[in-house]
Formats: sequence, C-alpha cells, structure tokens
Amino acid sequence: MDSQAAEKRVQELHNVLNQYNYEYYVLDQPSVPDSEYDRLTQELLQLEEKFPELQTPDSPTQRVGGEVLDTFKKVRHDAPMLSLSNAFNEEDLRDFDRRVKQALDEGSYSYVCELKIDGLAVSLKYENGLFIQGATRGDGTVGEDISANLKTIRSIPLRIKEPYTMEVRGEAFMPKQSFIALNATRDEKGEEPFANPRNAAAGSLRQLDPRIAASRNLDIFLYGVAGAEETGITTHSGSLELLDRLSFKTNKERKVCRTIDEVISYVGSWADKRPKLPYEIDGIVIKVDSLEQQKELGATAKSPRWAIAFKFPAEEVVTKLTGITLSVGRTGVVTPTALLQPVKVAGTTVQRATLHNEDLIREKDIKIGDFVVIKKAGDIIPEVVNVIAERRTGEEEEFSMPTHCPECESELIRLEGEVALRCMNPKCPAQIREGMIHFVSRNAMNIDGLGEKVIAQLYRSGLVHDVSDLYRLTKEQLLHLERMGEKSTDNLLNAIEASKVNSLEKLLFGLGIRHVGAKAAKTLSQHFETMEALADANLEQLTSIHEIGDKMAEAVVTYFNQPEVSELIAKLQAAGVNMAYNGPKLAAVAASDSFFAGKTVVLTGKLHQLTRNEAKERIEALGGKVAGSVSKNTDLVIAGEEAGSKLDKAVQLNIEVWDEQKLLDELN
Ligand code: NAD
Repeated sequence: MDSQAAEKRVQELHNVLNQYNYEYYVLDQPSVPDSEYDRLTQELLQLEEKFPELQTPDSPTQRVGGEVLDTFKKVRHDAPMLSLSNAFNEEDLRDFDRRVKQALDEGSYSYVCELKIDGLAVSLKYENGLFIQGATRGDGTVGEDISANLKTIRSIPLRIKEPYTMEVRGEAFMPKQSFIALNATRDEKGEEPFANPRNAAAGSLRQLDPRIAASRNLDIFLYGVAGAEETGITTHSGSLELLDRLSFKTNKERKVCRTIDEVISYVGSWADKRPKLPYEIDGIVIKVDSLEQQKELGATAKSPRWAIAFKFPAEEVVTKLTGITLSVGRTGVVTPTALLQPVKVAGTTVQRATLHNEDLIREKDIKIGDFVVIKKAGDIIPEVVNVIAERRTGEEEEFSMPTHCPECESELIRLEGEVALRCMNPKCPAQIREGMIHFVSRNAMNIDGLGEKVIAQLYRSGLVHDVSDLYRLTKEQLLHLERMGEKSTDNLLNAIEASKVNSLEKLLFGLGIRHVGAKAAKTLSQHFETMEALADANLEQLTSIHEIGDKMAEAVVTYFNQPEVSELIAKLQAAGVNMAYNGPKLAAVAASDSFFAGKTVVLTGKLHQLTRNEAKERIEALGGKVAGSVSKNTDLVIAGEEAGSKLDKAVQLNIEVWDEQKLLDELN
C-alpha cells in the first residue's frame, strides 16, 4: 500500500471506529461484535506503525474509551484511568514478556493474573473512610459522576474499615442471570434488548434516575488502588489484599505467576471454566506485580506497559457471505445454506452456516456479498446473527428461493402452516441419497464406510436405487468405485453383512418414517416386536401406547399403506435383513424399572387379598427376590396379620416394613 492509499484507509478507519466507539460508549448499543472492532483497531495500529506520519493525536488508537456526557457532573481522576493493550494468542503474551524482560532483569519480576470482568471501569473515592464519589472512566482523564447509581450496588461499602482517604478502581458488572432476566422483560415490553451484560451494566449506571440502576442487580469487583504506594504497599497483589481487608469485594480467582509459562497455563485453564462463572469475562488481565517495576515500565498515552489483556477467541466474528447454496433433505425440505469466507469462530474454522428458510433470509435482510456476523448457536452450529449494513457497497445481490427443486426440477410446494419449501417427488435423487445417508448412520443401521461421497457414486452409477440394493453389492462392483481399495471394500462388505442382524428398532429408525425418531422406533419395536405386526397395526393400537401421539400414529399407518413400502420391506427381508426386535422384552424393562428390581423381600403373617404364592410370583416378575428368613441382607418385609418373630427381627434390624395394602399399591 502506498502512502496515499494508506492515508485514505486511515481516514476511513477513523470514521468507522469513531462511530463504533460512539455506539458502544455513549449509546451502550454496539452494532458490531468486539472482534470486528478489535480487528479494525489492529489494522489501524499496523498502518500507523508503517506510516508514523499518519498517527494523529485524535486517532482512536490514542484515546481511552468514551465521551463524557454533559448530563452528569464531570470528575477529574487523580491518576488517569487507562485502557489495556490486547493479546490474542500465546505469541502475543510471549512478546509482552520479552518487552518486560528488556526493561527489567530476568527473574526479578512476577505477574498477577486476574479475570477480565466484562463490565465497565469505575473509580470510587473515599475520604476518611467515607464514600464520597464514584465515576465512570470516561475519556481516561475526566469521567462522569455516577455516585447516586453506584450507591445502589450493595457490595460497595459506604464506609470502609479504616479511615483512609483513597481512590480505588474496579469493574462494575451485571451477573449473567440478571442480564437474562432484564432482556426478557425488555423483550416483553417491546424494548430493544442489550447486546451483552457489559452494555447492560453501562446503560444502567448512566441513567439519571438511580431507581433504575437499583433495579438492575449490579455488582462490582475492585482491582486496584490509585496511588497505592502512598499507603505503604509495594505490590499489586498487596493492593488486592488491602482491598480485602478494608471490606471491598475482590475477585478470588487471581493468581501470582513467576513465569510467562505459568501465565499461559493459567490463561488456558479458563477456556473451559469460563462458561461456568455466574458473570461474563472476556479475557485475563496480566500485570507486573511490583509497583516499583510498574513505574519503571511506565505507560503510553493509552495503556500501561506493565499490563496486558489477553482476549479470549471471539464467539462472534464478521465474515463475507459469498453465496447461498441449496440442499434437499431426505424429507424433501429445501434448505438454503450460506457459503462464507472461511473464518475462525470459538475454536473451529467455519465456511457454511444454515439459513433455515426463505423467511429468515428476508427477516435478516441477507444479500449475497454482505458482511455478516457469525456465531455458534449453542456453541456448535454456525449461524448468521445479522448483516453489517454499513459495509454494503451496492454490489450485493438479492437472493430468492427457486420455484423448482434444484435436483429433480419438480415444483416446490409450501405446505400449509410450514415455512419450508418441499420437493414432493418421492423419486427425487437428492431425497433418496439423503435417505440412504440416514439409513447407514450410527443410530440407524450403523454401516461404517458408506460416506456421502460413496453413496453418491453408488447412486450415480445405477448400482443402488433404494436401501435394499446395498445388500446386493458385490466386491467387484465396489472395487470399481473411486477411492475404494481392497481393504476398504472388505470392511464395507463386512459392515453391511453385520447390519443384517440389527434389532428391529434400528431398521425402523433407518427407514425414516416421518415423526419417528430413534426413541419412538424403540418404543414401537418393543410393543410390536416384528415389522409385520407393526405394519398391520391400526391407529387405535398405535395410540393406545402411552408415548405414541396421533400425529406419529397417522404417519406410521400412512407409511405402511404405500405399496412401494411393502415392496421395499419384502426386498430387505429377502436380502436377509432381520425384521424382529432383539432387545429386552417389555416385561423385563418394566421389571428393571420397578421398585422391587434387585431387592430381597420377606413375606410374613397372613395376607388377605393375595395368597403368599401369588405375592411371591408378582414380586419376582418385577425383578425382586423373595427369601424365607430375615437377615441384614433383607431390603423389605411385608407383614400380614399376626406376623410374628420375622417382624420382630425386621424391627430390630431397622428394615423397612410394609402392610399388605402398601404392597398392593406398589404392585398395581
Ligand atoms: P479493554 O476492554 O481492552 O481493557 C481495559 C478495561 O478492562 C479496564 O478499563 C477495565 O474496565 C477492564 N478490566 C476488567 N477486569 C480488569 C482487571 N482485573 N484489571 C484491570 N482492568 C480490568 O479496554 P476498553 O478500553 O475498556 O475497551 C476496549 C474494548 O472494548 C475493545 O477491545 C473492544 O473489544 C470493545 N469495544 C467494542 C466496540 C464495538 O463497537 N463493539 C466499540 C468500542 C470498544
């Protein structure tokens, strides 16, 4: 890039970053995830490094935080409240350590690691032990007086244990639970939800009416004493201990580390533990412990050189949506999927994200060529959160769903009450292929070695038309396929053969009957025991089973009424595929669930409604054992009328005793 182009880009970056700062610090409503803001900041930093003449005093890289609003009284901080420079990976941490090592003697320093609470920095002033003023960080030198709001935070002491005159610093935050509850109420009232707990906390503390802050359940962790040396303290960890002693709330997860390796392992240990915390953290702050050494290292205009903030990998990132592809599922539903410029999200590289259906594309106003925010829903499935409209160039293209199936060209139908478009052609190659992928999947027939690509080849070459053809494949046929060697062919044929003896529920699930998942397939198999009995079942028989509802019963009857289905099942049977349920019988399942399973029971005295033998049989049918005498191995004694020495012994040994009625209740 030449200096002219760089100048233009620097100006652009100033504009967007100033806009994002305003949204974040003044409105408490950021329009992009932090990772996007951080990426642009890094770009600007790099340009400023390469072209130092472009670094102006008003550059966003030279300023701390936000603007100070006129609505609050202004407060000048005793010592500036700085921002922190960032580290995004292990290498950045080692670079930081190298810089520290250059200024200080090796081995002469240690670090304190603290959780980086995702809230907002505040400063609290005490005079002779009495709280007199609390302020936001503002632009680092001047903040806003938000004393009234801070006083609503219960963990801020209004008087501390010793009559110090001091300024302390900390992070005010909103616990996750309060944040979820707050956004739920805002949703109900039709108000815009807060993007994250940080913005919610900042928004709450910058309200003119302290009753609002009071209702928001905010909390605080203190992490520093301004001008700590004057109190005789020599280390940062000492300041934290002083804060504890004075009854301030500090975060107890901190750790003093002697080496950068120790720091790196502490940082690593939080990747997994982080979601379990009741408040959000966005990283780990690492500070040189000795206050003397902190002074030696000094600070830039924006951040101290003795500290760094390690930022966890982004959970939300921005990337370009380069296209939308369509796929037809085994039930004929046509799903649009976003193709993305590969990007790392929460540890893995993401290239595709489901867009679910056309309504969603319209609702989010997604166009091809847009920059979009991606996150992993439930931490697994990549999803498009929103479009960054400011980054549009006008070249983006509108997307619309086709009217015909992209595979077989039959017309797509929107069924009543559904948002999805469906291909209704049962012979649609895509549906057949997807059906086969499902048939061989682990919870179904569990045939290893039959991946998507092999299935596509088998179908294309005309070797299989439906799943029963899999059982007719020969070694020669398979050896002709791409990437199928002697060994993989043998393994595949063995896996196909082994699947023949699978119990009925696996086959049933594999057939992909609508609404019949793995669990329902098991229930149906247990009740009917053979494919034949199930195929003959009517609606009434099906719905009499507790777990089977009307919709599923109807789907089962409709499925087995199709002549093609009878044909398919006959073909599978002829190929030697097992059609019976091999699992534990219903009675045995009931027994293992029953109260009596594995228990030793003794009967004594006269029973009225059951004979002793009947009682014995029924207890045994439910998995219990009936013994003749009471010992410490007895779990339960059933005492009828005139029970004698056995009952006495049971009482002596503190064994549970029931009367006949209780036994009947349990048996029934
Ligand atoms: P920062 O988040 O990089 O780190 C400094 C802050 O960390 C301190 O001011 C303090 O509030 C906090 N902190 C938490 N725990 C701490 C501890 N134990 N010790 C010391 N400090 C601790 O700095 P910043 O200047 O507050 O914010 C910059 C960041 O804000 C950016 O990196 C970006 O991620 C985000 N931001 C986002 C947007 C957006 O539009 N999304 C806009 C502006 C800023």
